[in-house]
Amino acid sequence: MEKLSAYLENEGIRSSYQRLKILQYLQAHRTHPTVDMIYKNLSKEIPTLSKTTVYNTVKLFVSKGIVQELTIEEKEVRYDADTTQHAHFKCIECGSVYDVALESTIVLQGMVTEEGHKVIDCQVYLKGICKDCLKSTKN
Ligand SMILES: [Zn+2]
Ligand SMILES: [Zn+2]
Repeated sequence: MEKLSAYLENEGIRSSYQRLKILQYLQAHRTHPTVDMIYKNLSKEIPTLSKTTVYNTVKLFVSKGIVQELTIEEKEVRYDADTTQHAHFKCIECGSVYDVALESTIVLQGMVTEEGHKVIDCQVYLKGICKDCLKSTKN
């Protein structure tokens, strides 16, 4: 917790118990949870936590660049504490979102396109059927 607290302060974010818990949750659960999922899981442990606090906290983390926001689908925003460049794969069967490695040679961030536009962010979303669901449909 102390390490995380120092990490937050270093990023210019005043640390609080709830903020630390939310960050810790995101770092431990690489399932790209939504605000609802984070709230549901943490409210058992922190009864005073509100959904608004979770929402405001993840938005703050996103604005400071320590969490990335994934908008694979408009109605569902998910959060990821892994801010390195990687693609996301969403399974249309079970709804899980997986991390997919991008080839290290594909570095689009900071790149200037042929047309002269500068890229500051690149989100790669893939959709399909995950390996677990593929297995179960084959049987
Ligand atoms: Zn699946
Ligand atoms: Zn991810």
